[in-house]
Amino acid sequence: MVSKEEIIAALASVPGPDGRTPLPDSGALSDIMISGGRVVFSITGDPAQSAKLEEMRLAAERAVKPLAGVETALVTLTAERPPQPGTPSGRPSGQPARMRAGPAQARTPIVGVGRVIAVASGKGGVGKSTTAANLALALAGEGLRVGILDADIYGPSMPRLFGLKGRPEVTEARVIRPLEAHGLKIMSMGFLVSEETAMVWRGPMVAGAVQQLLREVAWEPLDVLVVDMPPGTGDAQLTLAQSIALAGAVIVSTPQDLALIDARRGVEMFRKVNAPILGIIENMSMFICPNCGARHDIFGHGGARREAARIGVPFLGEIPLELALRETSDSGNPIVASQPSSPIAAAYRDIARRVKEALS
Ligand code: ADP
Repeated sequence: MVSKEEIIAALASVPGPDGRTPLPDSGALSDIMISGGRVVFSITGDPAQSAKLEEMRLAAERAVKPLAGVETALVTLTAERPPQPGTPSGRPSGQPARMRAGPAQARTPIVGVGRVIAVASGKGGVGKSTTAANLALALAGEGLRVGILDADIYGPSMPRLFGLKGRPEVTEARVIRPLEAHGLKIMSMGFLVSEETAMVWRGPMVAGAVQQLLREVAWEPLDVLVVDMPPGTGDAQLTLAQSIALAGAVIVSTPQDLALIDARRGVEMFRKVNAPILGIIENMSMFICPNCGARHDIFGHGGARREAARIGVPFLGEIPLELALRETSDSGNPIVASQPSSPIAAAYRDIARRVKEALS
């Protein structure tokens, strides 16, 4: 396996943003992550210099790729705002840095991909990734060619949800071939770096890495690419939502009041970046006791439907809290594929039909 030291030595031949200082000494190089033959790092620079930064990015890739033990190098650019008076970090408090360098790339459609939809949630743990996986399968059941981009870079779930352990191949054209499961093309940062790797990336770095996964993966041909967003509505999510040409966003929430407040923030975030809201899904909507058949509204029920009506966005459907859903998700057999005749699979198919309709 290639070492960090070898990579830093190779990068010393690449001048940093000032054109003189070697990149590793310039302060612009992020931490370097190595996983098997995959090398991932980013370079920070002034967005006004985007053309120069792109050259530097390519030079860094060229320097690292020939090293023994390197299969692929994922080098991203991240934009740093120039220092501003009175703010030592260059970022006025509360104001996020915007966009990776190379904004010309932002929001351009992805070759061979019809529509990109985001599956998002106001906070973690509401079942966003489970929903994204099953919704993608149900859309495929509607006859669409579907892919999933796991953009939840802080906690990629798609390897677990689909039981995928392999590593994507890199083609001769230097394009990453996505893995496949149940007819879906799937790409996740979890395939490139180990799940244990703490992803302490800031917003623009996340958007930069996701841009690369959007553009340097052989998605073609797809009707729909489902993007599993990182949970929440902070800097990383906003920058990401801003940088993708989205045909629409699906918001997942539990019926709890607190989750609904977060879901509302999610809706506002997508409105801010002019992405149409396809609708809200209520997950963990109710619990039917497998022993006595009685229904328990553990987190309440109907909150998301009421909230959707209140804020004027479509309600797409509700998915109950059910052990089988957790078990199938955690064992890598999403319920729409493994138990297609279950009521939950049918509920996902109803939701998929509504999403398909909204897209057309
Ligand atoms: P998020 O992406 O919002 O963090 P996940 O999709 O990873 O959430 O789900 C979190 C946990 O909850 C997982 O263990 C998943 O299997 C479980 N889960 C999600 N939705 C349901 C549901 N409707 N019924 C039972 N378990 C669920």
